[in-house]
Amino acid sequence: MALNAAPPLPAGLAPRARLRDFARGRRGLLLAVVALLALLVWTGARLAHRHYHASAYARAETALRLTVNALDADLARHEVVPQLVGDLDMLQRLVASPDDTGLRQATNLWLEEESAAIAASDIYVIKTDGETIAASNHRLGEASFVGKNFSYRPYFIDAMKGGPGRFYGIGTTSGVRGYFYSAPVFGRSGRIAGVVAVKVGVDRIEQSWRGGDHRVVVTDPEGRVFMSSEPSWLYRSLDPATEERLARTRATRRYADAPLGDLALERRQVFGVPVFRVAGDDYIAASETMPKAGWTVHVLLDTAELRRETQLAVASLFLMLGAAAFGAVMLIQRRAQVAERIAMQRFARAELERRVEARTADLARVNDRLEREVAERRATEAELRAAQASLVQVGKLAALGQMSAALSHEINQPLAAARNYADSAAILIDRGDTAAARENIAEILSLVDRMSAIGRHLRDAAAKPAARPGGVLLQSLLAETRTIVAARLATCRAELLIDVPADLPPLRAGPTRLQQVLVNLVTNAADAVEGGPDRRIRLSARVDGGGVVIRVRDHGPGVPAAIAERIFDPFFTTKGVGAGLGLGLGLGLSITANIVRDFGGTIACHDADPGPGAEFRVRLPIAPAEDMP
Ligand code: ADP
Repeated sequence: MALNAAPPLPAGLAPRARLRDFARGRRGLLLAVVALLALLVWTGARLAHRHYHASAYARAETALRLTVNALDADLARHEVVPQLVGDLDMLQRLVASPDDTGLRQATNLWLEEESAAIAASDIYVIKTDGETIAASNHRLGEASFVGKNFSYRPYFIDAMKGGPGRFYGIGTTSGVRGYFYSAPVFGRSGRIAGVVAVKVGVDRIEQSWRGGDHRVVVTDPEGRVFMSSEPSWLYRSLDPATEERLARTRATRRYADAPLGDLALERRQVFGVPVFRVAGDDYIAASETMPKAGWTVHVLLDTAELRRETQLAVASLFLMLGAAAFGAVMLIQRRAQVAERIAMQRFARAELERRVEARTADLARVNDRLEREVAERRATEAELRAAQASLVQVGKLAALGQMSAALSHEINQPLAAARNYADSAAILIDRGDTAAARENIAEILSLVDRMSAIGRHLRDAAAKPAARPGGVLLQSLLAETRTIVAARLATCRAELLIDVPADLPPLRAGPTRLQQVLVNLVTNAADAVEGGPDRRIRLSARVDGGGVVIRVRDHGPGVPAAIAERIFDPFFTTKGVGAGLGLGLGLGLSITANIVRDFGGTIACHDADPGPGAEFRVRLPIAPAEDMP
């Protein structure tokens, strides 16, 4: 029976669909991770920008504070110089007698020395009309301030008003930028008799600003660059200058003849930090005004470095996040794979269990059927055994019939002969020939003896077979057997040759049933040779191995191979009905085989050697000593 095919999988469990869902889910996850990564990097970049701007601004502020302090200190250092110089006796005398050349010369030399000592560019003394009468740079000839009139300079004007003066700008004589301090020199009368001025060069200060990571710019109140660590920015206005402002600047001649351009600076706020854009470059700017000097100091920090740092930080962040995301994706993927494998295994297990259940149910059904069949066979076998037992009985009856036929032949013939002898004896007695009559009577007695022998045989055949086979001497059965088959042999014109040694050991068998075996085999042989050229039948017996083999061999046609298997089956026959009593029933060999089996022996049919003919071999065990007859 074909086992049921496994039913199709439930749709929800189809692994291909699950894999598709899984792949779609993974793509979605990947997109989400990339989006998250981009958001994180963007946020990180903004934070880094903000942080670097704030820290750069803090740095710029620090630098600014230092710069302003240094500048303040430098200015303060020179601020008091004019007043101190003005108080000197020599100066007092000079302003009192400005035409004293000796005094002028002495003052020149002294101013020269002092100027070098305090690192000022120039110290000079101006008369009340603005003419310079002594200067530290008296040796410079034309470039010397001596003889020059500075009455137009604001610092002179301020000093002449009685207070200290200060001014910054390009020197009209030297063309050198500087910061000017002035103070009045009071005469003995207490009136202003002259002015002392100190010019401090700014190159030295600018020099100290160069080489740093930031730029320093100092602008005047008009927003024009007066000092700068970047020389190209000098005298240029941070914001576009108005005409009004320009006019004001020109009036002071602060910058002499220097060209006054614009820096075109752009101001912005980035993350709350002021940023100046100059000539395409961005600078973080920290600014502070110095009210005393009227300046505004700007410290500018180039953002290029800042940008690089930010980019580096963002790149590092990106790498870190990328590595983290990669790790996370790998982890998720790994977990997904494990989950998928577990799901597949669970599915496979469920599928296997389902199939096993289906197969088990099939097998249980097959098993039930087999059990039913076995029970039926057993019943059939029991019936068959019963049938066989009854057949044995039928076979016995058949044998009895055979014997009866033989008996009637054997008895009728002697009876007829005895009657003839008796008739003759009566005539002979009547004639008085008693001797001849006695001979006849002797013949009659002999015939009667023969008949009583047949009667004994009949009694034996009818007797119930011994329950247990005992020891039987084959030799003792041969004469009777020959008698029983005589009629059949005669009918078939067959000749029975017996070759059984006299010392053959007794066999474990029943005498009547063993004789029935011999009769059956010899009768079959007689049937086989009937009408044949060689009608000899040979019955022989030999000790062989642990038993005795009885052979019945004929020269008939033999048993065809096609039916050899079936000749021991009950009712198998090739003979037609009516061939004789017991013939054609197909029971002879079946009964014979059963009897031999009862004795614990075997029976087999072979081709006679040399052929043609059949040879039936019956192997029987030798009877144990205690069963000896
Ligand atoms: P029956 O003699 O009634 O046919 P048996 O069981 O004695 O039944 O024999 C079965 C068959 O075996 C016979 O019909 C015959 O074909 C075959 N057979 C038996 N003995 C011989 C033999 N000696 N030679 C050839 N065929 C035989």
